[in-house]
Amino acid sequence: MAPQTTWNSLLEEWAKRNWLDVSEVAEALLEWLSKDGFPPKTMGSRDLGADWHRTAAFAMCNFALARANDVLDGPDQIPSQVPFTLTCATCNNEGPDTYAEAIDEGWTRIAYFPAGVSENFLGECLVCRERDEQA
Ligand SMILES: [Zn+2]
Repeated sequence: MAPQTTWNSLLEEWAKRNWLDVSEVAEALLEWLSKDGFPPKTMGSRDLGADWHRTAAFAMCNFALARANDVLDGPDQIPSQVPFTLTCATCNNEGPDTYAEAIDEGWTRIAYFPAGVSENFLGECLVCRERDEQA
């Protein structure tokens, strides 16, 4: 195990929203840390000490593992623990308050998007979908 490489992978896979990889990498790092493997440098400098980085790595791996599994286990990869707020990735149109309503209204390609500013999910609204289909 190269914990720094694994930690860096966790961050990359999270940013790319590769939930299966997030789950696997977080689990591997948690196992390493639980066997007293040395921690990766998480945030801040090495001067903060191994306890700092171990605690941060544990917390973030547990969070990432739980969230990734919530996405993977949810119907249509919609995590149950995340409030449903939806925006159209193309026109910024706001979606309805529930996934079921969004499907009824013709939204497609709805996906969990943790980097959203005011929304947790991105999708494509009916107007943009129809425009794309005509082009
Ligand atoms: Zn739209």
